[in-house]
Amino acid sequence: MSSEEHEHEGEHEHEDEEALTECPECGAEITGEESLESKTVPELRVDSGSVYAKGKNDLWLCKGCRATLGVKLRER
Ligand SMILES: [Zn+2]
Repeated sequence: MSSEEHEHEGEHEHEDEEALTECPECGAEITGEESLESKTVPELRVDSGSVYAKGKNDLWLCKGCRATLGVKLRER
């Protein structure tokens, strides 16, 4: 048996967490909440051709170009 150090590749359970340092749309520097704008939108569910609004979601927008950068996680 050789070393097991190279056999971890199948066990990656990392979530896609990448530091967002700039807006992918306009390139504005993102340094934290101060660079973002939050917006509340209804959470939509599509069910056999109809769209239902259920609950609310918070989105993070770029303060510069207002591109949607992600979903704001709610604390429980
Ligand atoms: Zn932007």
